[in-house]
Amino acid sequence: MKQFKAESKRLLDLMINSIYTHREIFLRELISNASDAIDKLYYKALTDSDLSFNADDYFIKISIDEEKRQITISDTGIGMTEAELDEHLGVIAKSGSLQFKKDTELEDGHDIIGQFGVGFYSAFLVADKVTVISKALGAETAYKWESCGADGYTIEPCEKATVGTDIILTVKENTEDENFDEYLDVYKLKSIIKKYSDFIRYPIKMDLTRSQLKEGSESEYEEVTEEQTVNSMVPIWKKNKRELTDEDYENFYNEKHFGFDQPLAHIHLSVDGTVSYNAILYIPEKMPYDFYTTEYEKGLELYSSGVLIMNKCADLLPDYFSFVKGIVDSEDLSLNISREILQHDRQLKLIAKNIKTKIKNELEKMIKNDREKYETFYQSFGRQLKYGVYSDFGANKDVLQDLLMFASSHEDKLVTLDEYVSRMKEDQTHIYYAVGDSIDRIKKLPQSEAVLDKGYEILYFTEDIDEFAIKMLMSYQDKEFKSVSSADLGLDTDAKEEEATKEFATLFENMTSVLSGKVKTVRASRRLKSHPVCLANEGDLSIEMEKVLNSMPN
Ligand code: ADP
Ligand code: MG
Repeated sequence: MKQFKAESKRLLDLMINSIYTHREIFLRELISNASDAIDKLYYKALTDSDLSFNADDYFIKISIDEEKRQITISDTGIGMTEAELDEHLGVIAKSGSLQFKKDTELEDGHDIIGQFGVGFYSAFLVADKVTVISKALGAETAYKWESCGADGYTIEPCEKATVGTDIILTVKENTEDENFDEYLDVYKLKSIIKKYSDFIRYPIKMDLTRSQLKEGSESEYEEVTEEQTVNSMVPIWKKNKRELTDEDYENFYNEKHFGFDQPLAHIHLSVDGTVSYNAILYIPEKMPYDFYTTEYEKGLELYSSGVLIMNKCADLLPDYFSFVKGIVDSEDLSLNISREILQHDRQLKLIAKNIKTKIKNELEKMIKNDREKYETFYQSFGRQLKYGVYSDFGANKDVLQDLLMFASSHEDKLVTLDEYVSRMKEDQTHIYYAVGDSIDRIKKLPQSEAVLDKGYEILYFTEDIDEFAIKMLMSYQDKEFKSVSSADLGLDTDAKEEEATKEFATLFENMTSVLSGKVKTVRASRRLKSHPVCLANEGDLSIEMEKVLNSMPN
């Protein structure tokens, strides 16, 4: 018997026993794997002229054997070779995921399984034995994989006539407080399928009974069993928005494993024009755990007329919107398109441009209509927007500037630049900001006094990226940004400053020479009230920016 890797074993134990509370999702996971497998075969058939295909050949069948306590999920997908059974079902989760599990407090009900790519193992939520019989496309022999859980698994050759996979679950016995028998009930399974897998694009068939009039009789009924397709099969993105509820969109988000959170907002697009496409996009609530690592891959699922052609099409999203999840389906893309060609595809570029605008509009709408939601979003992804302003030499500032928010002296909440400008005093010409490690420290800066004294608002920058982003913007609505620590504050020039500087010339000269190498000059200033002295900077680089630049590795 082969052993699961040590970590896998622990994860499997954890998962089966504690992580997931909604047991019924095992069916969604196994059906979505079946659908993925059919996708792969369907795609092959469409692009490989040696393979013929017939739409009726692609389906998923769920059957129940009450006597044996078994549920079988069969698909006519691409199947798995012996090596694939070993690789895909024998290695559970990457250690990084396990680490994540340890580091994170998991909130109940969040769908962790899919995040780890351990969907298959959810079978053990209801089964004490799982048997997989699979015949891969082009293979001579079929193989049987079998496991009773954490102890390990066996693989051996077996008989199977057609290409595809059967997953056979031997359902656990009821315990005192847990009922497993319900999963042996067709109607229970049917309702689970309706709930989670209705949008699967291949038929999910079940043998269902119904009563009908006996032949030749006018009053006697008989029970007949017949195969029925239980899902509606229309992919959610082809449905009419008006027929869909928020819950439908959330279910799809979960089914697709876009995140272990719930989306903050969704955008459903049905575009007919120079290029036609349907898309469903999501703005997540929480940052994925690997968001700021090199492992994070941005991108949207890309379909061509309902056939999946790419899992993560990066070209559809600008980096600053890399947190967006979703799918795009277009009839105007060729199936045989390769990654390289795709990059230059005109249609794809048009879609990407369009999507970018829609995301921006959605976020602007959120600022207006649901400020709290936007702030939640901004906590997670605000940094990404600021990086977006800063990168590409500010090329994206028009898209992003209205989405920025900063803490401010106005109130203890985030403000947009537009709000700042709308509150500016009549004689105020600049947008002022102060930089520091924390808002508390900024509030104590002597440099701010003169500005606050005039009744002007100050933006508080506490993240390294803030000032860099603002420098890239330079101005907003024609108002220039100005650091409260710059030598020239842009306030009314004051003859008194010059006078005093002259009057105490010798003192200042002495001070300058004592501090030589540390400061350029010492002079009188009107900006101070309760503080005797402060630092100011000349030129573009603020003191804070210098600090950041100095701390960077060369
Ligand atoms: P994920 O679906 O996120 O990759 P799973 O644990 O659900 O993770 O499945 C692991 C892998 O096992 C799949 O990626 C696929 O390669 C393989 N697999 C699972 N079920 C099937 C199936 N019914 N047919 C073919 N391959 C499958
Ligand atoms: Mg899966």
